Amino acid sequence: MRRFWDARQLAHAPALELHNGGFVPFAEAPARAEAILAAIGPTEPAADHKEAPLRAVHAEDYLAFLWSAHKDWRAAGRAGDASGYAWPVVRRRPLALDRIDARLGAYSFDASSPIGAGTWDGAYWSAQTALSALDAVLAGERSAFALCRPPGHHAGADYLGGYCYLNNAAIAAEAAVAAGKRRVAILDIDYHHGNGTQDIFYARGDVLFVSIHADPRMDYPYYWGHADETGEGPGAGATLNLPLPRGTDLGTYLPALDAALAKIADFAPEQLVVCYGADTFADDPISHFRLRTDDYAEIGRRIAALALPALIVMEGGYAVDALGANVATFLSGF
Ligand SMILES: [Zn+2]
Repeated sequence: MRRFWDARQLAHAPALELHNGGFVPFAEAPARAEAILAAIGPTEPAADHKEAPLRAVHAEDYLAFLWSAHKDWRAAGRAGDASGYAWPVVRRRPLALDRIDARLGAYSFDASSPIGAGTWDGAYWSAQTALSALDAVLAGERSAFALCRPPGHHAGADYLGGYCYLNNAAIAAEAAVAAGKRRVAILDIDYHHGNGTQDIFYARGDVLFVSIHADPRMDYPYYWGHADETGEGPGAGATLNLPLPRGTDLGTYLPALDAALAKIADFAPEQLVVCYGADTFADDPISHFRLRTDDYAEIGRRIAALALPALIVMEGGYAVDALGANVATFLSGF
């Protein structure tokens, strides 16, 4: 399987995040990518597809905000990473405010995603890495892996959050549609619900979104990922959420995976995008499933049995010591 990575993703390196009421070292650290690289062998660099594929998914004003946010933060006299502390209440009327703090609140949904000096570059090349791996699949490869970091699945069309700034998988899925794929299925198997991806395609009938994740009544991102969210308008029925309880092991996980795969097979997509998060691992420091390293081989095998052209995009996974083995085992099973 061809593997893609671009070292410019390492430019994104915030120092701290707000977690459980205190500031702690930023968990989505460059060391994650380095651990995966050490385990998966040689990679190919990303090609620059410029901003058009980003604009096909993200709002113009959001991209402009993300590009300038850290510069604006510094211009306001601040040190360190830009982070919001005030958010508009749901259904508050939109206001075009200039203040960097107001814009940080308006374009984000949590305080765990600081914007550093290198965040735009890191997120930009993460998205380009997904697009480059997609190119390989569109050119005839059965599958390709995009080592994306920062991850993307929590980022919506006009908001960041959950360590995510640009939605790599959504950008690639939209590019696949633009390349002529009439139906694209996204399977998200990160521990957390991919709320941004769901939002982006919620009213679309040509992009199926299927997610297996921790029950959002207990776990982040709380406000999305409930089983009764199934899509709307032309997208009615094209979203499937399969929330699972804390403590889920392989025996509980596999029936949900088989249900997800059956839904995808029924949809008969021409392209599959797999959002792989290794934070379902038993020893993940911020998650509560009980999957073991060897389990990822079986999960990879079952997804591959769909026999669809597949782009695999890296999402979360924070047990850095085991991360390389978890990713390599999933890819080898696939
Ligand atoms: Zn996650």
